[in-house]
Amino acid sequence: MRLTWLIVFLVLACAAGYGFTIAFRKKLNILLLGAKDEPFAQPGVRWKNFVSKILLQSKMIKEPYGVVHFFIFWGFIFICLGEIPFILEGLFPQYPIPFLGTNPYFFLVKDVLAALVFVGLIVGLIRRWIVRPQRLYRTMEAFLVVLFIMLVILTEWISTGAKYALEPHSVAYSLDPVYRSVAALLSGLSESALVGIRDGVWWFHTAILLIFLVYIPNSKHLHLIAAPFNAYFGSLKPLGGQIKKLDLEDEMVEEFGVSRIEGYTWNQLLDCFACGECGRCMDNCPANLSGKPLNPKELLSRTLKHHLLAKGEVMQKYGLKSTGEESAEAIAEIAATNPEDAAILRQSLINDVVTEDVLWSCTTCMSCQVQCPVSNEHVNKIIDLRRYLVTMEGNFSPELQATFRNIENNSNPWGVGWNKRDEWAAELNIKRMGEAENAEYLFFVGCAGSFDNRARQVSAAVARIFQAARVNFVILGAEEKCCGEFARRAGNEYLYQSLVAENVELLNGYNVKKIITTCPHCLNTLRNEYPEFGGHYEVIHHTQFINELVSSGKLKLKQDPVSEPQKIVYHDSCYLGRYQQEYTAPRELFSKVPGVQLMEMDRHHDKSFCCGAGGGRMWMEEHLGERINDMRVEQALAKKPQAIGANCPYCITMLEDGIKETQDSEQLVQVVDPAELIVKLI
Ligand code: SF4
Ligand code: SF4
Repeated sequence: MRLTWLIVFLVLACAAGYGFTIAFRKKLNILLLGAKDEPFAQPGVRWKNFVSKILLQSKMIKEPYGVVHFFIFWGFIFICLGEIPFILEGLFPQYPIPFLGTNPYFFLVKDVLAALVFVGLIVGLIRRWIVRPQRLYRTMEAFLVVLFIMLVILTEWISTGAKYALEPHSVAYSLDPVYRSVAALLSGLSESALVGIRDGVWWFHTAILLIFLVYIPNSKHLHLIAAPFNAYFGSLKPLGGQIKKLDLEDEMVEEFGVSRIEGYTWNQLLDCFACGECGRCMDNCPANLSGKPLNPKELLSRTLKHHLLAKGEVMQKYGLKSTGEESAEAIAEIAATNPEDAAILRQSLINDVVTEDVLWSCTTCMSCQVQCPVSNEHVNKIIDLRRYLVTMEGNFSPELQATFRNIENNSNPWGVGWNKRDEWAAELNIKRMGEAENAEYLFFVGCAGSFDNRARQVSAAVARIFQAARVNFVILGAEEKCCGEFARRAGNEYLYQSLVAENVELLNGYNVKKIITTCPHCLNTLRNEYPEFGGHYEVIHHTQFINELVSSGKLKLKQDPVSEPQKIVYHDSCYLGRYQQEYTAPRELFSKVPGVQLMEMDRHHDKSFCCGAGGGRMWMEEHLGERINDMRVEQALAKKPQAIGANCPYCITMLEDGIKETQDSEQLVQVVDPAELIVKLI
């Protein structure tokens, strides 16, 4: 009889294994349609990331519900381990499995965790179905997986409890409160009834398990397998240096940027499968929250993934590796017999799948990536699409056209004459590079700090502070050019690379080693992107530098409390905060101003809300949804401050515009950079 059941089990297990393998292999083959990528270097760092992000759940654990997820994750691991003795002992009851099947401490730990998982799943159900945050969708897939796991836990408890009732002297189960309780509940039943429960529930449990096995690769829960790989293969570059360098000289490259799903690398496509649809990315996305058509969760887990699966399946059907020019003839043949398949193969990512409004809505604020627990990278994918539009089709808004032209003609997006770049410093007696021997620091002023009237005030304040502290610094004057940051994020890699080449030649020619800048966008590009082009510099933000000057006593401040503004609410810029993880220096600097009371907005530090200017949005009209800068101003004014503290020229412009747009009062709230307060104290 046992042999018959063993054969039945083997048949079912083989069927489930086959179903799993077929579905899994299909997904893997679809993934491998993506372009080549080799994310294998530095395995030590990769394993560290894996341990931190997956095993220790470092991102999840920061949130209140993240603790529940932590226990669900580890409980799930132990439940899976517990399946080994449970299944094997069901098949071969006379052979207890060493350690896992005989160790009472293992069962104790497993069942404490399983009980926590059970409670966690109930909390999860309540969260998703009753008090649902907007980022969680009510889907049958989400419900089914909870049901599966709950049934797996319950049936294991019941079957093993019945077994314990049959073998009350078993040491293995003696410490386990769950098995003991179930055994106590069943203790009045006859032996045959207990055997019936033990075996019947074992079969029910095993059937659920095998169905679950087949279900995983056929559902969004494939993320259980894909997420650990994604954490391992994720980019090791700093967040601000992850945009891929295009080899514009390579004549073999047919197109720059991405217009077909297989143009993404397999590693980029893996993100679609790794997404657990938790919605953390959309929860702080300024584009999504301001009502624009971009929702980073939808983009990965629906739009791109569904298209990848649909197109990947058709490509496999016809054995196509790509759908570019080289396959045009094959697709034309397919069209003759199967026009629907050909239509899918011809779909372009841009407009057929992702609308232009979606891809231009992104401010590159990086909130999505910083919040994502499985290391998904949204921003690169969006920039790849923009690159195709801009470099291959020349398709971009008239505002961007004008701004690119301004940079081409005058090396700055404002379009002011290049030779006026150092007008702001006319009365400050600052030496130009080349006039001073052995200057220690280059003050890279940036386009905003040179041409925008408001940002020029910050540049002047910073220069005065440097002079008061006797910092040995110079500026490039009219030789300075736009760093190219905006051009790259707006998709214009040609313009970006030509600016970088000119700047690197200039900076290296002057043997520049240390750069200070007031603009976090310049900072990020010079620090994280220029090294790939031969520019290696130590780049410091002015708030970091001045904070250090004050802390070290090199800059003495008057201790008279400022009359106003005293109540300052602080806004973290994306490019200094999330991109550089610098949250402390600007706060400390504001706090060094006597009388200043610094306040936090509800969204601060790595959850700070973008001002709306990044990713080229500074230079584009905002036609869709609410204005992002107005939303940020509203969040700031909710704290009733006298001023909003900022550290980025783009943010200052956006916040000041937002204040003017939304407030009627004569007494408008100011926006201040800490340097503007510090300079009053020297
Ligand atoms: S970078 Fe910012 S704006 Fe762009 S998708 Fe991510 S969260 Fe949204
Ligand atoms: S992309 Fe990341 S943060 Fe967004 S839903 Fe998927 S797993 Fe969650």
